[in-house]
Amino acid sequence: MSSETAHAAARPEEPTESALATARRQLARAAGELDIDPNVVERLRHPAKVHEVTVPIERDDGTVEVFSGYRAQHDSVRGPYKGGLRFHPGVTRDESVGLAMWMTWKCAVMDLPFGGAKGGVVVDPKSLSDAEMERLTRRFTEEVRAAIGPNQDIPAPDMGTDAQTMAWIMDAYSMQEGETIPGVVTGKPPVVGGSYGRETAPGRSVAIVTREACDYYDRSLAETTVGVQGFGSVGASAARLLDEWGATVVAVSDVNGAVYDPGGLDPAAIPAHDEEPEAVTGVDGEALSNEELLELDVDVLVPAAVGNVITEENANDVRADIVVEGANGPTTFGADAVLEERGVPVIPDILANAGGVTVSYFEWLQDINRRSWSLDRVNEELDAEMRTAWNAVREEVDARGVTWRDAAYVVALSRLAEAHEARGLWP
Ligand code: GLU
Repeated sequence: MSSETAHAAARPEEPTESALATARRQLARAAGELDIDPNVVERLRHPAKVHEVTVPIERDDGTVEVFSGYRAQHDSVRGPYKGGLRFHPGVTRDESVGLAMWMTWKCAVMDLPFGGAKGGVVVDPKSLSDAEMERLTRRFTEEVRAAIGPNQDIPAPDMGTDAQTMAWIMDAYSMQEGETIPGVVTGKPPVVGGSYGRETAPGRSVAIVTREACDYYDRSLAETTVGVQGFGSVGASAARLLDEWGATVVAVSDVNGAVYDPGGLDPAAIPAHDEEPEAVTGVDGEALSNEELLELDVDVLVPAAVGNVITEENANDVRADIVVEGANGPTTFGADAVLEERGVPVIPDILANAGGVTVSYFEWLQDINRRSWSLDRVNEELDAEMRTAWNAVREEVDARGVTWRDAAYVVALSRLAEAHEARGLWP
């Protein structure tokens, strides 16, 4: 089973902050920048609903095992809930809520007509056979069926899930509803209503945003070195595109460690996690640990593996000039402060990896209209959407002198606050 962001680097033993704590602290900080109604901020601190389900499945040996699953729905003022579904041993209720909050901001910063959701099952996908994964996915879908739907909540791939998982969800949902409903999930295989370019979209947006950031800081991509932590679909796609656009990718990593070549690696020749899991450390070059990769003297560092990897403990050792977040929540709140103090710009996840949900939106449009777009159209429209969002955030950076994360939050929160004020509080 392959995965969206992959088991591409080790989760730290003790995550320094929960995603929910980080998301709330970021919200409070950005709200301080804006003259926004405190009642709206109070509403945004809480999820609208969190579904907690029990998912029993029959293992291949005939025994029954029971897993826990969650679907956190944070805010739907701008449209149906939207966000990924992860299968990972570290999934918790609070993590789902924090990640759902980030989806709300991500969709708002991209100006997509969606709210934010996230969910998952507490499971190590590597411990299940494909048949067990299918049973787990179908049963989870049934347990949350009343809460999801193309106009209600639309799951998508995340860590430990992929296009096949989405096809099973689509099938399980459609069979019970009595009609084929492709718009219930995004990130499906194109043959059942998926969009071309969806799988590479988060990495593509990381590359686009890196290109724009280099331009903003007057660097040519041809003279830019890049280190990428994580070689799942986000990290591998970003590394390959940046290499294609002239940057020099000097280091990449997976869960087993990193490979470093100051002369430049060929990311197209290194198998991504879904092509051949854990292949990075077999590549020629100097072997480093994932921690050492984060401290390399590169121009751009792309943490594209798991959350909480840049912490207060190692933020002073980050030597990159720019950090572009490929994973969700790779930088803790405390680390952000250290990097700000040191003048290292951090281009936040809610902008940088938003290509995934943006092409999910394109997929949803294609499903509703029963009409598929070409890969060229998807990539062109993604580039245009990313540049629009980049420019909206850049204007706030220039006007307010705030960090890129704060600026992205300002853009997102302004749109959310306006929508909440326009709709009011029901009843
Ligand atoms: N899991 C992805 C993310 O974190 C995509 C979500 C989606 O496409 O709905 O942005």
